[in-house]
Amino acid sequence: MKVLVAGGAGYIGSHCVRQLQAAGHEPVVVDNLVYGHRAAVAPRVPFHDIDFGDAAALERVFADHRFAVVMHFGAYCYVGESVTDPIKYYRNNVAAPLTLLETMLKHGVGKFVFSSTCATYGIPARLPITEDLPQAPINPYGQTKLDVENLLKALAHSHGLSFAAFRYFNAAGAAEDGSIGEDHAPETHLIPLAIGAAQGLRPALQIFGTDYPTPDGTCLRDYVHVDDLSRAHIAAFAKLDKPGTRLFYNLGTGTPTSVKEAVAAVEKVTGLEVPVTYAPRRAGDPPALYADATKAKTELGWQPKFMSIEPIVETAWRWHKACPKGFGDRK
Ligand code: UDP
Repeated sequence: MKVLVAGGAGYIGSHCVRQLQAAGHEPVVVDNLVYGHRAAVAPRVPFHDIDFGDAAALERVFADHRFAVVMHFGAYCYVGESVTDPIKYYRNNVAAPLTLLETMLKHGVGKFVFSSTCATYGIPARLPITEDLPQAPINPYGQTKLDVENLLKALAHSHGLSFAAFRYFNAAGAAEDGSIGEDHAPETHLIPLAIGAAQGLRPALQIFGTDYPTPDGTCLRDYVHVDDLSRAHIAAFAKLDKPGTRLFYNLGTGTPTSVKEAVAAVEKVTGLEVPVTYAPRRAGDPPALYADATKAKTELGWQPKFMSIEPIVETAWRWHKACPKGFGDRK
């Protein structure tokens, strides 16, 4: 199938493009390269350097290709920045998808796959998190994702849009062949920061909070491999044939991993010491987030290949070791 991938030069989108190719689909990427990397897009994949909120530019892309499905990975994802600059977040994460959805529907494309987030749950009422828990985001980033989920529901009703929204837990790792990986600027995520600290390329890792009500006092998260995320997205295509289909899935391994356990995994995999300092809690970090992904497993037949932190870190390490400057090493 021909698939439009909005945000296909970003971390998760670029990995999905390669999984789409591996599954025999034809991805076409649109990305404004604000945070994405041209070098992350697989060779020979048609690439349009446009903002998917630009209706005229998007029109031209839809005029050139007949898409069966649209995937959207193009959101901004810095929680802190969403708090200080909500207009930037609502413009890119809500207004731009409005344009994308309006354009695709106008061109008769009725299937949509959306990157949502566990941040839509806010501080969860119980653990592990199931899809039916109340969604109450605690920052504008999570709110913009929930707003799009709600828009999708409305469009399923009004226009027969069929969609799958995936609520990711902590995306991590890199392509198994080492071809692409995680390269955010600025980088805020635990695993690349811990690896960079171990390599001596970044400052000592700050561990944010050691007094959480968790077994070792640090936050618990559910790290899920980026290629496992992609495989779930592609599995959803087969479920979107009936107009008006609305699907919501958590994607995580269900294994809680503490910050200290993640750091220990980085030390074990790299054979290097991660220098750490202990810092106060980071604002907006819930103590524990981990998924019950039974629904994706049962309905999509999804089974993560990477079930624990060490093999995930191994793939990340392969990438960071080969490309310590990220895509700066690939130009
Ligand atoms: N974390 C940390 N130091 C850092 C970055 C992250 O201690 O420099 C912690 C953070 O408090 C959270 C976990 O690592 O508990 C995962 O954070 P990350 O930013 O990778 O993902 P998030 O859970 O915020 O989406």
